[in-house]
Amino acid sequence: MVKPVTVIGGGLAGLSGAIRLARAGWDVDLFEQTGRLGGKMNEARQHGFRFDTGPSLLTMPFVIDELFSSAGFQRQELLTLAPLDPMCRYFFADGSRLDADSDTAKMEQAVAQLSPADRGRFVRFMAYSRAIYEATAEVFLFTPIHEWKKLLHKRHLPTLLKLPSIDAWRTVHSGVKRFFQDKRLVQLFDRYATYNGSNPYQAPATLNIIPYVEYELGGFYIKGGMYRLVEALEQTARALGVRIHLNQPAQEIITQNGRVAGVRVNGELVRTDRVLCNADVVTAFNQLLPGMSSERRKLNRLQPSLSGMVFLWGVQQRHAQLLHHNIFFSADYRREFEQIFRERLAPKDPTVYVAITSRFDADDAPAGAENWFVLVNMPYLCPGAAEPDVDSVRRSVLEKLRHNGFDLSGRISCETVITPRDLEQRYGGNRGSIYGISSNSRSMAFRRPANRSRAVRGLYFAGGACHPGGGIPLVLLSGRMAADLIIERE
Ligand SMILES: Cc1cc2nc3c(=O)[nH]c(=O)nc-3n(C[C@H](O)[C@H](O)[C@H](O)COP(=O)(O)OP(=O)(O)OC[C@H]3O[C@@H](n4cnc5c(N)ncnc54)[C@H](O)[C@@H]3O)c2cc1C
Repeated sequence: MVKPVTVIGGGLAGLSGAIRLARAGWDVDLFEQTGRLGGKMNEARQHGFRFDTGPSLLTMPFVIDELFSSAGFQRQELLTLAPLDPMCRYFFADGSRLDADSDTAKMEQAVAQLSPADRGRFVRFMAYSRAIYEATAEVFLFTPIHEWKKLLHKRHLPTLLKLPSIDAWRTVHSGVKRFFQDKRLVQLFDRYATYNGSNPYQAPATLNIIPYVEYELGGFYIKGGMYRLVEALEQTARALGVRIHLNQPAQEIITQNGRVAGVRVNGELVRTDRVLCNADVVTAFNQLLPGMSSERRKLNRLQPSLSGMVFLWGVQQRHAQLLHHNIFFSADYRREFEQIFRERLAPKDPTVYVAITSRFDADDAPAGAENWFVLVNMPYLCPGAAEPDVDSVRRSVLEKLRHNGFDLSGRISCETVITPRDLEQRYGGNRGSIYGISSNSRSMAFRRPANRSRAVRGLYFAGGACHPGGGIPLVLLSGRMAADLIIERE
């Protein structure tokens, strides 16, 4: 008998879960509140420019390959992944630069050139980062750890025995500082904590797994733009029979006797006893599940991840000194994170990330121009705290770029701005967070909300705010885990 299931949200995690369920023979209806799939992974076009509006870097490509192949498709026929080499050009506050490369010899050389005293340290740091990956990935990335039976499976025993060595007692910053003397290198490797929206001065050093993921497993761009992944997922989902309903916001998950009984969508009742919810888990308990006060209180105590402000600029000039990915660091990284996470202010001297896909895909900008995606870390929204002022953030970004030799005065021909409030309102990201929950403490890093609700039977969660966390590969895995839990429980 075909079993029905309702998916709320057509972000990456919702699409991944829908594909897995449909492939297993389930009858899937997916309701997306906006007019487009993809959620935070999206795309904009303006005056001949094409922009990715969310992710610009893809890691762990094998997750995508597995997703498509388990659905009966070949990723290679749907998408072309392009390795990024060099991966990123770093501009430090003192005027020095480093090109980060996944080729270890090249990276070693770049590190030694920047800081001769740190010669040989990158290789040692990578061995440390790899050891954390080997000790944690199987359990923390690929297993729904809240399911005790799965966690305690004998396959995981060797991993569980290694857990004391995952460097969970230090912070990311103190873990990095053990390897590098030069402050610029410490800043560079501290930055990886922001890949899941966390503060390197608070998050456990276990997050030092991320450099291994990027340097050794590779960083990629998707030819034609990151949104091609969403289109490939949509094509796969439709081919497997998933019914996709756009502009259909879920307004309430209806429960009866502790079980899902239906979903109210756009004023209509959809009867269902299984829901895979890709809406942010905190937002879902705040807005879709009335009466769950103790669960809601618990979830609202978790600290959200970083938010961000994005400027999409059509720039009427080419810059040979820039790569596809570029970082302009602040002078005082610790101060930047104090302002963001403690004072809840837009940083006065922000670290600025610039991605220019037209360096790779010439069609993304008119001749002689470039499409700049500019991202600045911001505090998540807080009741009573002022929201970041777009004009003053723009001024500090332009000043930072000018200071580094890139004067854009009179060269920006079009602009779109995405604020923390937009991230909250468009996609339902709790308080405008980009990655869901931060990992700014051990408990938040290792015990994110589960993929199966304990409060409501038949309710499952997938997405950045729950296990295993934010970022493209992890939310795709999250969708897979939630779908597998649904399939196994029937
Ligand atoms: C500026 C920016 C840069 C980023 N850079 C990177 C990067 O370089 N690399 C990387 O790996 N990751 C990056 N990320 C993070 C990555 O985009 C996210 O982790 C991922 O896309 C989140 O997917 P998701 O499915 O969890 O959630 P979302 O994308 O938020 O999807 C949730 C979906 O559910 C829908 N929805 C919500 N509530 C309802 C409702 N009530 N009814 C119906 N539909 C609903 C939303 O509209 C949305 O479509 C970035 C994100 C941003 C914003």
